[in-house]
Amino acid sequence: MRCYCVMEHSRPLVAVDRERPEPQGTEVLLRVRVAGLCHTDLHLWEGYYDLGGGKRLNLADRGLKPPLTLSHEIVAEIVAVGPDAPPVVFGQRSLIHPWIGCGECATCRRGEENICSKGRALGVARPGGFAEYVLVPHPRYLVDIDGLDEAVAAPLACAGVTTYSAIRKFGDGIRHEPVLIIGAGGLGLMAIEVLKALGGCGAILVDIDPAKREAALAAGALAVIDGRAPDAARQVIGATGEGAGLILDLVGSTATATLAMQGARRGGHIVVCGLMGGDLTLSLPTLPLRPLCIEGSYVGTLTELRELVDLVRSSGMAPIPVSRRPMHEVNQAIDDLQHGRVIGRTVLIP
Ligand SMILES: [Zn+2]
Ligand SMILES: [Zn+2]
Repeated sequence: MRCYCVMEHSRPLVAVDRERPEPQGTEVLLRVRVAGLCHTDLHLWEGYYDLGGGKRLNLADRGLKPPLTLSHEIVAEIVAVGPDAPPVVFGQRSLIHPWIGCGECATCRRGEENICSKGRALGVARPGGFAEYVLVPHPRYLVDIDGLDEAVAAPLACAGVTTYSAIRKFGDGIRHEPVLIIGAGGLGLMAIEVLKALGGCGAILVDIDPAKREAALAAGALAVIDGRAPDAARQVIGATGEGAGLILDLVGSTATATLAMQGARRGGHIVVCGLMGGDLTLSLPTLPLRPLCIEGSYVGTLTELRELVDLVRSSGMAPIPVSRRPMHEVNQAIDDLQHGRVIGRTVLIP
């Protein structure tokens, strides 16, 4: 089978022909139909996360070394199962939950496999979707997408469940005030749709790119703000009255976290799920005095992914713009994403 692999960090992916794997135990082998390209793939491709202050989190230190097969947003159809797998429907198209944990620790038993410290996510620690076939350890990670367009469904496994899980952390608050969303890329547009589907009262989007602000307005944002404007924090306060109560930082850079802190109202809740990198100097008295809640959110659980797929079906949520490209163009697709030339999401088709 053909795979497109990181053989060396920050170098173009290489087309490699490998033996098609045979599923063992409870494993399922699926033929990839579409595989999404996400910003996390860029970090994995580069081999590190920027921790700010000149520090890096190297993936090699976590045992993640080339060759790597990226892509964790996969829709695929079942072609074979191991001898111990429960019954499956061959040929059925499924969205794969890629955030796979060890299955045994207390975190996994709570249903939070996505944050298992021994997690082996698909397209990260296990081979992902930039290949003709993908192996999944158990059919329970497959989510039925009957009735949905597969190119639209694929990004739900990461862009979708990441925004859904983050927005759920605001609880009922979304019905009472708009969410300030920083970053109008694929996740930002998805967040606008999730908010609508959950009955939220809307979103104000921040982005430095005028084309992305335009896309956010077209998707129904209440207002947009240029994150590079010198008075961006004042504009946030102007647009929200007393400052934003609910802030979703989908970028996660020093500049965006600073804007979130400056633009938050007293009692504000900031959820960070972007991984752009940087750091934040925090005056500790501001936590109790203002009083602020700063929370991190990392992808989502299998339950949340199932809830999201149901929500997409029942609400008829407008899909985010998706561009389809043949998988052999993966290196151009990475280049386009790296240089900010992608509106919405790119999915690759083997
Ligand atoms: Zn675990
Ligand atoms: Zn992702």
